[in-house]
Amino acid sequence: MRLYSSNAMNSYAWIDKSLQTIHRAHWHRSPRPIDGKAGPVITIAGQSVINFASNDYLGLAGDPRLAEAAIAAIHAYGTGSTGSRLLSGHRPIHRELEQAIAALKHTEDALVFSSGYLANLGAIAALVGPKDLILSDQYNHSSLINGARLSGATTLTYAHCNVADLEHQLAEHRTSYRRCLIITDTVFSMDGDLCPLPEILGLAEQFEAMVLVDEAHGTGVLGQTGAGAVEHLGCTGQPLVQIGTLSKAIGSLGGYVAGSAQLIDYLRNRAPSWIYTTGLSPADAAAALKAVKIIGSEPERRDRLWRNVAYLSEGLRQFEGVRLIPSESPIMCIECDRAAEVVQLGTQLMERGLFVSAVRPPTTPTSRLRITLMATHSFDDIDQLLSGLEAVLRCP
Ligand SMILES: *Cc1c(COP(=O)(O)O)cnc(C)c1O
Repeated sequence: MRLYSSNAMNSYAWIDKSLQTIHRAHWHRSPRPIDGKAGPVITIAGQSVINFASNDYLGLAGDPRLAEAAIAAIHAYGTGSTGSRLLSGHRPIHRELEQAIAALKHTEDALVFSSGYLANLGAIAALVGPKDLILSDQYNHSSLINGARLSGATTLTYAHCNVADLEHQLAEHRTSYRRCLIITDTVFSMDGDLCPLPEILGLAEQFEAMVLVDEAHGTGVLGQTGAGAVEHLGCTGQPLVQIGTLSKAIGSLGGYVAGSAQLIDYLRNRAPSWIYTTGLSPADAAAALKAVKIIGSEPERRDRLWRNVAYLSEGLRQFEGVRLIPSESPIMCIECDRAAEVVQLGTQLMERGLFVSAVRPPTTPTSRLRITLMATHSFDDIDQLLSGLEAVLRCP
């Protein structure tokens, strides 16, 4: 018995070794509790800090109108949706939300998942299988990469936003497979740049491929009506599978696929992460529905966000020797040489009341300070960030 249990212990000893390796590389991370309501100023461990690490681009996650909508839905339906959508978990609010998302995205229909991650897993696994080919941007989000794995399709990676490399791979491999799916973030989450969507759609037509785009950081943020990067890049109405999240600019929780009515009907019958999971909670659905309506009726929120982006870009351009990663979004990154350095910079900024993410491998290939802006930041908030950055970057 004793021998058995010590052997059993030994089978887990590798975990401790792995953790030690993670610590040695300065890759170790743990979550920090944040108190109070979501917003541009938050409280971490009793300290009030300006929040430059949120995905709540429009400042809707703390909006009282979303909270009221969520509370009303709880009173009407209860807290859990109690079953999968196809069995007992489908509520009228789910369909209302899907129709509102389709209107926002200028698509025929939409399907709501319990998270953006699950939307990517389910859509990719439903669209392609072992006889098929996926071409995936090198910097794609984890949910696209794991969706590709789940599908069983052959997955080839093309160089980041490199249309020539994508074309080369299509020319070389496309005819050896049945279906082909090109997958890419529209706004790259850890860099802030945009994919070359018109060129990708051109290649997709030429080589008979489908295109799936992840609009997690685009929806509500980019485009004339807030539809996303697809609208911003002039690709509205093109044949596309659009994935997104309800947890970023939309300020709630959940994910969606938007596209043709046939695509959505097919996914309702074939996407495993939609069929075999519990429907989105009524509160999350109601908050998201309210947010989608606000995005439609208050374009000034988007204007304020972009004014803040322009203001910070202008300020950062004044700094000499700072390596800014090219960005066309509210995500702005300053590249650093070493993981230990970026962690230290993050700590120094935090001491000054500025919450900026220190992102490092394996999340990204290089270490960086990642700043995200919100519509609800004031110019004064951004001025404080600029003076904090100036101080810590000058004397690291
Ligand atoms: C956040 C994110 C997701 C996941 O969305 P969740 O709703 O948080 O699961 C998917 N793709 C990208 C690019 C993201 O940034």
